[in-house]
Amino acid sequence: MVVILKNNSQKEQTQQLIEWLEGLGLGVHTVNGHYQTILGLLGDTSKVDIDMVKGLEIVEDVKRISEPYKNANRKFHPDDTVIDINGVKVGGGSFCYIAGPCSIESPEQIATIAKEVKAAGATLLRGGAFKPRTSPYAFQGMRGEGIDLLLHAKEETGLPIVTEIMDAAHLPLFENVDVVQVGARNMQNFELLKALGKTNKVVLLKRGLSSTLQELLMSAEYIMAGGNEKVILCERGIRTFETATRNTLDLSAIPMLKSMTHLPIVIDPSHATGIAKLVKPMAMAAAAAGADGLMIEVHNNPEKALCDGPQSLTPDAFADVVKCTNKIIEAIK
Ligand code: PEP
Ligand code: MN
Repeated sequence: MVVILKNNSQKEQTQQLIEWLEGLGLGVHTVNGHYQTILGLLGDTSKVDIDMVKGLEIVEDVKRISEPYKNANRKFHPDDTVIDINGVKVGGGSFCYIAGPCSIESPEQIATIAKEVKAAGATLLRGGAFKPRTSPYAFQGMRGEGIDLLLHAKEETGLPIVTEIMDAAHLPLFENVDVVQVGARNMQNFELLKALGKTNKVVLLKRGLSSTLQELLMSAEYIMAGGNEKVILCERGIRTFETATRNTLDLSAIPMLKSMTHLPIVIDPSHATGIAKLVKPMAMAAAAAGADGLMIEVHNNPEKALCDGPQSLTPDAFADVVKCTNKIIEAIK
């Protein structure tokens, strides 16, 4: 980090600032130019409040040279993180298929889909129990009862389960949930992220609707700073001016994130496109671009789904996606 001082800065104030920065455990390298003084900060600057330093009377500008995320940064952790979810590995060359309905709707629905996605090649079962819906009048999910049904499907199939949390107060309900999903709308719910940081749960962190990759990594950092390193990132499409698809799938996020972080990256082509027939090409493209897995919505009767039917695949269509994506994975090995 570099701090550029105003050209009329007083020696005494400069010295006070240097001492304060040194007090934070940083080395300070001072460059006295003809008109301006520049302070080069050495050490871990991730805890420096850049806005606060910028606001100081004698400071003209502050520039970050290194990234503000340390735990998630590949620079400090060159090897891929591999997360083991009850024997299912994600990252470092192990590809996962997370599949299941948008929402858990009934005991029969989740039991049927769970069996069918497993037969089609799913390695994890998803299902929403707490649903973040735009309208308060839309189906809100089966809540705790939904989690119980998902746990039952886990017992029946042996598939680890993934479901979304919307409130840290619900954490006790997630005790036997293998992967806790933080949805796009909660990516910057910092209190929720901090609470998850104190657990040892695997967290699937979805990119916010209009969040940058750095913001996504800063949210991962919130979880990791609390001591929980088990974070899987998920690109699920971002808001752009395009309206033909529900969102715009940012496939370039895969190689970009791979260079920025060691955390695994999963792609959700269902929410990214909102259109069932686009899921297969985007799933294959994601595998080709180096993703560590896919999250795909599957419903036994998409036309009657209580949520996200138009983007949901039938179990047969999902089986076809797995077959074709596996060919891509083989081809790029
Ligand atoms: C979901 O996965 O069910 C979901 C609501 O996704 P997102 O948070 O990406 O919209
Ligand atoms: Mn959905």
